[in-house]
Amino acid sequence: MKILNQFFSTLLLLSLLAGVCPAFDTGSHHDLTRAVLAEHGFDEDSIKAIQVENWLTDYYSNSPTYSMHRREVLEQFHFDNLYTYAQVEHYWAALINNLKNETQKAARDDDVMSMLVVMGIGLHAVQDFYSHSNWVEIHPKTGPDSYRATTYLSTVDSSQRDLLKGLHTGKYPDGRNSGPGAYDPPADADLHGDYDTGMNHDSQIRPRWAEAYVFAYCASHELVSAFEKWANEARPGFWSGIQTFVAENGQGKKLDLDVRASRNISMWLKAKGLDGTWKGGRSGSTRFFMAFSSKWVSGDSSVFVRAIRDGKVQDALTKDLYGVGEDLPVPSVEPFSLRRRTVEFHAARFMEANKSGLVGKLPKFGTPDFYARITIGGQEYWTRTIQRSRDVEDPWTEIAFADQETNSVPIRIEAYDEDSLDAEKDQKYDINPLVGELDLNLTLDLADLILSGDIKGLFDSASHPFSIGGAKPDSPRAILNAWISSAPLK
Ligand SMILES: [Zn+2]
Repeated sequence: MKILNQFFSTLLLLSLLAGVCPAFDTGSHHDLTRAVLAEHGFDEDSIKAIQVENWLTDYYSNSPTYSMHRREVLEQFHFDNLYTYAQVEHYWAALINNLKNETQKAARDDDVMSMLVVMGIGLHAVQDFYSHSNWVEIHPKTGPDSYRATTYLSTVDSSQRDLLKGLHTGKYPDGRNSGPGAYDPPADADLHGDYDTGMNHDSQIRPRWAEAYVFAYCASHELVSAFEKWANEARPGFWSGIQTFVAENGQGKKLDLDVRASRNISMWLKAKGLDGTWKGGRSGSTRFFMAFSSKWVSGDSSVFVRAIRDGKVQDALTKDLYGVGEDLPVPSVEPFSLRRRTVEFHAARFMEANKSGLVGKLPKFGTPDFYARITIGGQEYWTRTIQRSRDVEDPWTEIAFADQETNSVPIRIEAYDEDSLDAEKDQKYDINPLVGELDLNLTLDLADLILSGDIKGLFDSASHPFSIGGAKPDSPRAILNAWISSAPLK
């Protein structure tokens, strides 16, 4: 029976490859959600559970293991297909009202699992707004050395509202000619697009992704603060139970597997012009995708998967998003006011080193599939894998956040060759010239951006990167060119 299940799952997954809805890539949702929830005092299991619900909002918008009707419900949480300012405004008002109502219902019912789903879906939708709209084009950076922290919810009640008249989002999928809901696309609708075209800012390889990502960070903070306020109004004490949620009775292991699934399935998805949706293209692997996802799909689903797959929370959250109901007043949300700065890791080039430590011709077999794990402050950022390349330009960009009062931040860089379904078995590459040391451990001084530790000096721009590589007797070895920058949010 199990084998038969796996066989059918595999068939279903093959058809999944036929239609996938790209959102902000899964990695952006994943990293932003962790960064913001950790800053709001969330414990490990509740962060993971909300990351998983956030990802499943995308996954079940497309999965053929799910009925068409249920997919159409989740399809509405990506902020696509809003062609006029009036439609954008209506959607926001309905979304925030629905999120408030469902938060307070979950709190009154003392229903932790529903609250985790509400938060995962709500954060997903709000993050997607900055990725799928022309918000970043309407709010350009005022200079190269800072980011803007102006969000939709902090603007909508103010005099700046006049600036928003041209605000809209892209049509998805490109071939759509009706709906969702009451809105039919105009003939000249802007398209969501793909890696190379369209309105989207879904990943690091798209123009202005970094700005969309920073706006989404600010907006996620606002939404989590609003969730807290709404929950406390309905049932004091409920919120701290969400923050300290622990997955019990074997669900912790399943939750870890779901987190791996969110990364692996997104990383390896390969079909119809898609070559990975974790952090841009080039990471797709049909072989790994099939092997991993057929197992995950046919396995016994966790309570976190069932909560969104079998649940009804999302039905209530869709109320009038694409409808023609009356415009509701938006519940007031405290504007983002934290003093933060980015801490950015930019890899300019990553290449395998030959035996003498220099790049050179190497045998053709066993081409490596490089990826890196970058730990900035307390958070690990898992890059995309670049499949089958010994020498790659601009492979990775990761953005973390720090308080403006912080003096310095530790950064750890590890490089790997992906060659297993289980990352724990992947081979690490030596990028540190010291004997016996493989990784790089640095400290970034946030006042002057000078690095200390395994790299010393100022390397804060594309025109002035550092270059460092492994050395004998450690092996295998690689060379990393990168720079590390930081800019305040204003
Ligand atoms: Zn999405």
